[in-house]
Formats: sequence, structure tokens, C-alpha cells
Amino acid sequence: MVFAGEVIAMASSVLEDREMLIEAIRTFARAELLEADRRWDAGESSVQEMLPAMADMGLMGLSLPERVGGLDCDMGTYASIIRELAYASPSAAVTISVHSMTSKIMDLFATTSWKDKWLEGCGAADSLLAFAISEADAGSDAAATQTRATKVDGGYRVTGSKMWITNGAYARWFMVLVRTDPESKRSAGLSALIIDGNESGVGRDRIHGKMGIRGSDTVVLHLNDVFVPDDHLLGSEGQGLKVFLGALDEGRIGIAAQALGIAQACVDEMASYARERVQFDRPIGRFQAVQNMIADSAVELEASRLLIERAAWLVDTDRKNPMASSMAKLYASEAANRIAYRAVQVHGGTGYVNECRVEQLYRDARVTTIYEGTSEIQRYVIAKGLIEQGLTD
Ligand SMILES: Cc1cc2nc3c(=O)[nH]c(=O)nc-3n(C[C@H](O)[C@H](O)[C@H](O)COP(=O)(O)OP(=O)(O)OC[C@H]3O[C@@H](n4cnc5c(N)ncnc54)[C@H](O)[C@@H]3O)c2cc1C
Repeated sequence: MVFAGEVIAMASSVLEDREMLIEAIRTFARAELLEADRRWDAGESSVQEMLPAMADMGLMGLSLPERVGGLDCDMGTYASIIRELAYASPSAAVTISVHSMTSKIMDLFATTSWKDKWLEGCGAADSLLAFAISEADAGSDAAATQTRATKVDGGYRVTGSKMWITNGAYARWFMVLVRTDPESKRSAGLSALIIDGNESGVGRDRIHGKMGIRGSDTVVLHLNDVFVPDDHLLGSEGQGLKVFLGALDEGRIGIAAQALGIAQACVDEMASYARERVQFDRPIGRFQAVQNMIADSAVELEASRLLIERAAWLVDTDRKNPMASSMAKLYASEAANRIAYRAVQVHGGTGYVNECRVEQLYRDARVTTIYEGTSEIQRYVIAKGLIEQGLTD
């Protein structure tokens, strides 16, 4: 028999473990990633150099089950960890967010034979994961996918190109949306395949000149008659878009948490500069106009945090709700952009040069309203959900 006191003690030890883990990642990120991220922004190297250290911290196993050595984090803990990474390095945050989302899908939908052979390795630095939906002519409209998988003896042959693939430069495994049935229009003919980055016919072209998150590797993925064995199919044929969209509900919480970490770093930078910078014989933090920028940012930061916590709690209580994830992503990403704008404003001319961190954060924040569904697509998901189901928990 378990007594109430024991239940409370067990619950508090889970909470303590969770807080200790988040604290350890915060310390690691601020000590090891912050300076490195500034170098990556200047174009010297990328987050790839820190993958071994991040894997040692367990960051590549956040969403892997414990049976293969993962941390099997609940969504609330996961979002807090992504926030802490983003505070120090938005590039490291998106790298881990994409890897984690993909590893979760592999665990849910991959065949037993693939998982028995490969899943455990996905917690290691040389097994980075990527997901590839977007194409040159299939962005928001993923159902327009052209990449073709033709059935052959024992598997498929895949040909096509995928755009904007985060982690693509070094990924070992790609989760790729392909068209298996050219006769079925739109999503009915789409399937999800796991493609081995070491397979012949896989090519990667780095995308240069990104506005922000320059430490994150983004590529065009070329697939030229690549062989994919049958047991690399995720779910069943024709379910590809469903597999990906289910993943994006949780992926969007990760991007919202990335935006939150960027926004929090901006608020801290603003407050600290407002304390130190003196004009008209007093710190600029004494001027109400500057106080307003800090106060509005702090309120938007807290509102973002609460929307993310709610969306994560719904996932953790088996009530995953696409509207809640989209609300968190829409609000947190747009708020992060407003907050980063104010952070530059509070810094005046200083905020306009790269030596000042807010200049980089302003650029890094920008992509959060674009990837894993633009703000316009999040609004569509929210409005469609409300019109069809009303507001539910
Ligand atoms: C740095 C970076 C990393 C990325 N990483 C990945 C990745 O790892 N994997 C991956 O698959 N993709 C990735 N993407 C792609 C990203 O998800 C797409 O850029 C995004 O979905 C938008 O697609 P698009 O760029 O083709 O824009 P489009 O779809 O062409 O949209 C252009 C504009 O039209 C609007 N629009 C389009 N359709 C509608 C509509 N129905 N209603 C209202 N407005 C609409 C959009 O909101 C946008 O404002 C990444 C992108 C970037 C920039």
C-alpha cells in the first residue's frame, strides 16, 4: 500500500530531479554555448563542434525512451530545457529541438527491426537526426510534395530535393516526406521514410547567408535514386503527412520555447543596460519610456511562458491539442520579435552593432515566425480548430 506522504515524496523527488536537470543544462549552456554561439554567428564553425559535449549532457536523448538510454522527458521539462539552450544559443536550441522531435517520431512509428538496430544509437553525437518536409515548391503546402519514391524489390528508390533542412549537413538519419503513389492527389499519396545519410545518392548543399541562427546547419538535401529498405517506412503508405503533422504539434512547442529563451535573454540584456547606461545624469532605466519597453516585454514574456506551459501540460496529460501548440508558437514567436526589437531600441546605437548581443538576438528571433509553420499557418490551425470544435482543453 502506498501512503499519501510517499506519493507526495515521490512527486517532489520527480520535481526535484526535473529542476536539477534544467539547472544543470542552464549552467552548461551559459558556460559552454554562449561564447561559442557568438563565434558561430560570425561564421566560424557551427554547433556541430559541440555535439559530443551536448550528447554527453544527455541532450540528444531528451525524447528517447529510457529503455535505449534516453531521458524520456515530459513535454514541460523538454520545453524548459529548450528555453535554457536558446537563452545561450538559439542555434543549439533548434538543433536539439529538431533532433528530439524526429527521435520521438522514430520511436512512435518506425518498424521494430529499424528500432532494434538503430534507435539506441540516436543518443550519440554521430547520429544527428533531421526531418525533411519542405521543397522548393512545397513550403506551407506540404501536400504539394514532389519527391518521388518508387517501389522496387525490397524497398524504394527515392529521387527529389528537399529545401531548408536543419541539421542536414551532418545528419545520419533523415525523416523524409515522399510521394509513393503518384496517382493519388495531395496528401493521400504521401509516405514518410527514414533515409540513411550514408546511402549513395544522398547529397547536401549548405545554405549560406542566413539572417540568423547561423550556428545551425541548414542544407538543400538532394536525393538521387537513393535506395531505402522496406523496414525504413514510418507508419504505413499514405500516412506520411499525418505522421509529420502529429510531430509538428510537439515541434511547435519546441520552437515556442526557443523563442521564449531568446526573449528572456533580450529582457535580461535590456534591464541590465537600462541600469548602467547614463544619460541626462541618470540611468536610462529611470525614464518612463524605457521602463515601458521593459515592462511590456516582461509581460509578453510571462504570457508566452504560460501558453507554452499549458500546451506542454496538455501533451503530458494525453490531451494533445494542435490549437494550444499553435497558440503558444504564434504568440511566443511574435512576442520574441517585438521584445528583440525593443531590446535593440533600449540599447540605442550600441544595439545596432554586432558586438552587442541583442543585435544577434534580433536576427535570431526572426526565423521563429517562419519555420515549423509560419504565423499565418498557426492562425489557420487555431481558427479552423475553433470553427470546427470550439474551445476545448
Ligand atoms: C532556417 C530555416 C530552417 C528550416 N528548417 C526546416 C527543416 O528542418 N525541415 C523542413 O522540412 N523545413 C524547414 N524549413 C522550412 C520552413 O518550414 C518553411 O520555410 C515554412 O514552412 C514556409 O514555407 P515557404 O518558405 O515555402 O513559404 P511559403 O509557403 O511560400 O509562404 C510564403 C508566405 O505566404 C504565406 N502563406 C502561404 N500559404 C498560406 C495560406 N494558406 N494562408 C495564409 N498565408 C499563406 C506564408 O505564411 C508566408 O508569409 C526551414 C526554414 C528556414 C528558414
